[in-house]
Order: sequence, then C-alpha cells, then structure tokens
Amino acid sequence: MSEHFDVLIVGAGISGVAAAYHLQDQLPGTSFAILESQDGFGGTWKTHRYPGIRSDSDLYTFGYRFKPWVGPPIATAEEILSYLGEVIEENGMARHIRYGHQVTNARWSSDENLWTLTATRLETGEETRFTAGFLWMCQGYYRHSEGYTPQWEGVEDFQGQIVHPQTWPDDLDTSGKRIVVIGSGATAATIVPALASKCQHVTMLQRSPTYFNIRPNVHELAQALREIEVDEELIHPIVRKRILYDQDAFIRRCINEPEAVKQELLGLVRAHAGDGVDVEKHFTPSYRPWRQRIAMVPDGDLFKVIRDGHASVVTDEIERFSETGIVLKSGEELEADIIVTATGFNLNVLGDIDFTVDGVPLDFHETLTYRGMMFTGIPNMVWVFGYFRASWTLRSELIADFVCRLLAHMNAIGAKSVEPMPRASERDMKLSPWVDPEDFNPGYLMRGMHLLPKRGTTREWQHTQDYWHEKDEFPNIDLTDELFVYDGGRASA
Ligand SMILES: Cc1cc2nc3c(=O)[nH]c(=O)nc-3n(C[C@H](O)[C@H](O)[C@H](O)COP(=O)(O)OP(=O)(O)OC[C@H]3O[C@@H](n4cnc5c(N)ncnc54)[C@H](O)[C@@H]3O)c2cc1C
Repeated sequence: MSEHFDVLIVGAGISGVAAAYHLQDQLPGTSFAILESQDGFGGTWKTHRYPGIRSDSDLYTFGYRFKPWVGPPIATAEEILSYLGEVIEENGMARHIRYGHQVTNARWSSDENLWTLTATRLETGEETRFTAGFLWMCQGYYRHSEGYTPQWEGVEDFQGQIVHPQTWPDDLDTSGKRIVVIGSGATAATIVPALASKCQHVTMLQRSPTYFNIRPNVHELAQALREIEVDEELIHPIVRKRILYDQDAFIRRCINEPEAVKQELLGLVRAHAGDGVDVEKHFTPSYRPWRQRIAMVPDGDLFKVIRDGHASVVTDEIERFSETGIVLKSGEELEADIIVTATGFNLNVLGDIDFTVDGVPLDFHETLTYRGMMFTGIPNMVWVFGYFRASWTLRSELIADFVCRLLAHMNAIGAKSVEPMPRASERDMKLSPWVDPEDFNPGYLMRGMHLLPKRGTTREWQHTQDYWHEKDEFPNIDLTDELFVYDGGRASA
C-alpha cells in the first residue's frame, strides 16, 4: 500500500518550507507532502543547539521574500525557528508535513512515470511507501546525525570531554572549565564568545586564520524606516534590495581589489581586538577575501572576549591529543577539560537515500547538472543547493518559482516526465568537478567532490553561485528549449 501525491518534498528545513509555500501559492490544488526525518521543522536550525547558535547571513535575505523579517539582522536559531513556525501556521502547512519519516529509498520508473519512496517511521520502525510524479529534494548538504571530526593521534588518551557542535549535549556543564575550541569558521567564532563568560578560559585553536566581518547587529536603513513608521511589509523588500545591492558591490570589490578589501577587514579586526593580539599571525588568511565564506561577527563579540582576556587564539597544528589536552606541532601544550571540535560537516548529497532510475542504482557523480538543480538521467527531480556567497534561501525561492513554472508547463502540454539533456551542439562539452577549487574551496566540498555531479562549460550546466545573474536568468528560462526532454522526447513542448 502506498500514498500518492503529485509532488513529494524531502526535508522540512528552510528549503522544504519554501517549496511547500510556493507550491501552495502558485499551483493551488497540487497534492503534496513533506517527508522529514526529524520530529520537527527547521533542519539546520533544529539540529544545531550549541551555545550562541545564530545565522551568519542577515535575515532580510535569509528569511523569505514573502514574510517580513522584523528582528535584528543576525538571528538566533530560536528566532529563525519561530519565524518558520509562523510561516507554517499562517499558511496551514502543518497538515502536509510527515515528521519522523526517514526516506531511505527512491525509485524512478519510466514505465509509470512515477517515483516510489520508502520511508522508515522512526517512532515505530515501520516502513511506509509514497508515490509521486515529481520529487523535490530539500535535504540540505550535510549529514544531520553527526559532524565531521578529523582523525587525531591520541584522542582516546584524553581524559576530558570531546564535543562536536552538531551534537551538543543539552546538559554539558561548562562553568569554570578550560575549553579549547578547534576551528576558525563561523561556528567557532559563535561558540567562543558564548562560552567565554561562563567557563574559566576558552582558547580558539586554528590551523589557519579566517576573514571576519565585524558589524553592529542593526540595519541602519531598516531602523530609519521604522522610525518614520513605514510598514514592515514595505521595509522588508526595500532593505532586502539594499543588502543585495551592497553585497554585490562587496563581492565585485573582493574580485577587483582584493588587497584593499583585505586591509579593510583586517583594520576592523585591529580596531576591535586591541593591541594585545597579533593580527598578522591569527587573523590574516593566506587566500583572497571571499574564496571561503567570510564569517560575520555581530557587534564584535568574539573580539571583545579576546580583548578582555576571557578567550585567546592559538594558530598552530595539532601534533596529538594527550591525557590533559592537546600537544601542538610547536611543542606547546594546551590544557583542557573540554575540547570542542568545530571542524565542520560531512557532505551528504542525497540525504543517504538509495536512488535507482529504472532499476539502475544512481551514481550521482556521473550526472551532469543543469544549473545545479536538475541532472541528466534523473527525470522529474529537482535538488536544492543554495548559495555560499549569498543567503541560501534566495536560491530556494528562485528554484521554487522555476519548479512551479515547470510543473504548470508540463500540465499544459500533458507531459508526464522531464529531464535535462545537453543540446546536440553541447554533447562534447568538457566536464569538470562540481566547483572550481580556485574559486571556492571549503573543506567539506573538497572532501566530497567525488560525490557531487559534474559541471559543464556554460552557465546553464553549472551551479554558478551567482545570485545576481540567476535572479534575472531563472524567470526567463525557456521551458520549450530542446534541452528539456519531455516524456523521453515523445511530448511536444
Ligand atoms: C550552523 C549553520 C549555520 C548556517 N548559517 C547559514 C547562514 O547564516 N546563511 C546561509 O545562507 N546558510 C547558512 N547555513 C547553511 C544552511 O544549512 C542553509 O542556509 C539552510 O538552513 C539549509 O536549509 P535546507 O532546508 O536546504 O537544509 P537543512 O537545513 O539541512 O534541512 C534539511 C532537512 O532535510 C531532512 N532530511 C535530510 N535527509 C532526509 C531523509 N533521507 N529523509 C527525511 N528527511 C531528510 C533533515 O532532517 C533536515 O531537516 C548554515 C549551516 C549551518 C550548519
């Protein structure tokens, strides 16, 4: 027995909720369900419970375009969850979400033009089947059950506690403890100030420095508009536009005048960290700004605790763990009661789901991507992978508009399946790995490149990571283009 829907959405995070909202709004009458393994919505913002957890992006752009954000630009996980909860409630979406359903298997049949999904109900262990004409993968990009921890020598000797931010124990007592946080990205920069006030001392141990942008957690334009009593419905799109315009200008500057941007960012760090910190050693990355995501430090909180002496930074490599802490390559030893491994994620491209297409196991790496959202050889499936350099949600919504348009087009021409295929003139296109490491090279992507689809030589066959072009390109995608093959080439587009 199985339940049938027009569309099945996997994941009830930011992207899955966006998918459901736009499906309801733009294609009323379409039957759909969201299958979510956790016992609640929110994805990333439900999974991560470490102290201080907050967004790195501003919520004017990380929030949806259809629901005004009225809080401070950088938001806590709790604030994001409550915003998502309102979206679900205000739009009557709860009845479509099946929590505690872990999708394990997805089979496409070209004979039936149908996806069959098997999900395990986590409460009972029972297997349930669903079928759908279209599959919308909103499963995120990393494994939610555990984070990435490198192999270090001597870990088993350490007598204290080792904690990964992704699986933070609710009852972890940090008061009076000596804590070492391994990592230098946004997560480490969030945890360090959040722990500093309670514990004895916290050390941020990094192999290499990260760029930080330090800003007050207010948006001046939003403040000014509120002061003159402009409606939030109006403030939201205006502030979004302002932020997106400024981000575009900033990214261009990172490319055209990287040295000037670097000096500006380092100048901010110098001003906030005070004289006691070696900015050259601890906060000057070797790469140009924007090659990796620039971490936001709202109100300079990380630098405040460093300046006050509650926290410090060590830039060195780990030789091994010892009974009492970490021995560094320099010979120095960092003593610790708790070691926090803010060392990142395990890339998880398809939610640990076994896919088959007409009985053949899917090798995702062997596919070619169409705009980072559809894939050759996988019919009726769209996958949401957001932006690194702009808010993820911007892309979730662009893709949502595209899917709704695609489904409406298929209805109009009576097509039951669609898949992308390079045009005849593009069949010999050179294929490369998913991203160019020269352009963007965070660890989890470099470790997982062999799992990701390939990209071609033109923008259409790549995930360009470029919101500012895609916002104009996506609404104009020609659905009658020969690259969209409907019903295996049988339907007329
Ligand atoms: C700590 C942290 C902070 C971040 N901050 C930002 C930020 O400020 N700005 C930004 O743009 N991005 C940020 N990101 C990236 C972030 O993950 C995305 O922005 C966004 O939250 C992703 O939403 P999503 O719905 O696509 O995926 P997720 O949030 O990962 O949600 C996916 C959902 O799918 C479910 N799922 C997965 N597999 C299955 C399965 N097989 N069966 C059923 N359900 C499944 C998961 O349980 C999860 O609930 C951050 C990431 C992390 C980890």
